[in-house]
Amino acid sequence: MALPRPEELIGTVNLKQMPSRKWMDMLPVEFKPGFYCYGAQGKNLEYVDFPNARDFNVTDPDWKLPEDWKKIVIEGIKQRLERFRTFHVFMDICVRCGACADKCHYFIGTGDPKNMPVLRAELLRSVYRKYFTTGGKIFGKYGGARDLDLDVLKELWYYFYQCTECRRCSLFCPYGIDTAEITIIARELLNLLGLNTNWISGPVANCYRTGNHLGIEPHTMKSTLEFMCNDIEDITGIKIEPPINKKGAEILFITPSGDLFADPGIYNCMGYMMLFHELGLDYTWSTFASEGGNFGFFTSLEMAKRLHSKIYEEAKRLKVKWIIGGECGHMWRVWHQYHNTWYGPVDFLEEPISPITGTKFENAKSNKIVHISEFTADLIKHGVLKFDKSRNDNLVVTFHDSCNPSRGMGLLEEPRYIIKNVCNHFYDMPDETIREKTFCCGSGAGLNAGEIMELRMRGGFPRANAVRYVHEKFGVNMLANICAIDRAALPPLMDYWVPGVRVTGVTELVANAMIMKGEKERTMNLRMEPLPGKEE
Ligand code: SF4
Ligand code: SF4
Repeated sequence: MALPRPEELIGTVNLKQMPSRKWMDMLPVEFKPGFYCYGAQGKNLEYVDFPNARDFNVTDPDWKLPEDWKKIVIEGIKQRLERFRTFHVFMDICVRCGACADKCHYFIGTGDPKNMPVLRAELLRSVYRKYFTTGGKIFGKYGGARDLDLDVLKELWYYFYQCTECRRCSLFCPYGIDTAEITIIARELLNLLGLNTNWISGPVANCYRTGNHLGIEPHTMKSTLEFMCNDIEDITGIKIEPPINKKGAEILFITPSGDLFADPGIYNCMGYMMLFHELGLDYTWSTFASEGGNFGFFTSLEMAKRLHSKIYEEAKRLKVKWIIGGECGHMWRVWHQYHNTWYGPVDFLEEPISPITGTKFENAKSNKIVHISEFTADLIKHGVLKFDKSRNDNLVVTFHDSCNPSRGMGLLEEPRYIIKNVCNHFYDMPDETIREKTFCCGSGAGLNAGEIMELRMRGGFPRANAVRYVHEKFGVNMLANICAIDRAALPPLMDYWVPGVRVTGVTELVANAMIMKGEKERTMNLRMEPLPGKEE
């Protein structure tokens, strides 16, 4: 579906317009093309034993639900209220102050009141009140409660798959209500009925079968890495043989599969291998744990745990000492917020110590995984690497804080420190759009599907607008980030809103500037483009 021109798209948004009807009366929901993903296919649900596996078409009146679907959802809410204290508290304590209302990128980009975090949560809260509170049972609609019927269920599906679980709203809530956590529970409830999207359920099934979202099989992963090494040899004259499934290696390296196949992630992947080769690091790739990301997290915590366990088991099998993780977003959310609850301290691994600098990564004491940006920043701080920054002189760089590593784990300084050490031209975007307050790319939490391009362009508008500011003011032409979803989602966003700005991972910038021992005179960057001053 063709998109309107950018100014037409955003020109229709009026954030101050009051709706003509009360929100509870705005049913049934209108399924606008470009705003909803295709429904999950039965074969993908069946593969991971999800309930009610069947094909369903979102715009069909009949969603082929089990007869007792309402009972299943209400029982599901009851179980989660008992299990998750946060969920129970978040259902009760919102005072509807509105501080979160205009903080969501989807509200800013669509003007749809149900995309205000407060109202998104209220969609589920109203059902909670009806079945679990005395006031809701007695006063019904007048007490903010409503029956769960098919129209309400469809509305839940539509709007909880228009939330990227980015948590920006939670930063502004005086009570600390995290609407992303409410979305996570709402999606779990929908999954009890087989109500997911195919863009999420497909990668989940792939990951369960092959270890990664893209369904890459071991021999393909091996030949892909080798193919990249051929390119590295052409560029640097250095032959790299990537270690794969090497038992007894000191470090297991895990990265999202997007870095193995998609442009520009592949350049980051080349960068990882160049960095580790230069250091002589004793590490290994794994063809079993071939995915750092976790689309299971967008279905249910149980599914997230099932997919995550392969990393844990592979670290055991290969007898490594600790793990380095690549540039990924939700991979880090899972590691930092859920891993220890699922598995407890990882006793069979050792507290990470850089074999190059001797730095003890105290912050990784418990879960034994170090982010590649932490690892690289430490190398730079110790003067281990040599750089020719002028190789990146054609780039004027800004940095997009990916929601999960920034808000989820506080990784704010390291990427900037690295970029400033390998590039001569760096400019941050305005303060209220970066670091903890960063705006989402508009495509996280499984929403990077092609069929919702309009929603993605609208949701990504606040981020793109901040990029446009530094593009026009400083000539920024490269948007760096440390997330594989960003590397996939930001290029079309930039092409739409800020043409002329390209997208890169941080490690690609490092590898371009890094002077490797024994390298030939470089004339090309990792994209096989001429380096500044080497143009013919
Ligand atoms: S900021 Fe918090 S308390 Fe205020 S409306 Fe939003 S969720 Fe409710
Ligand atoms: S978590 Fe992000 S996408 Fe979801 S409601 Fe909050 S700001 Fe919007």
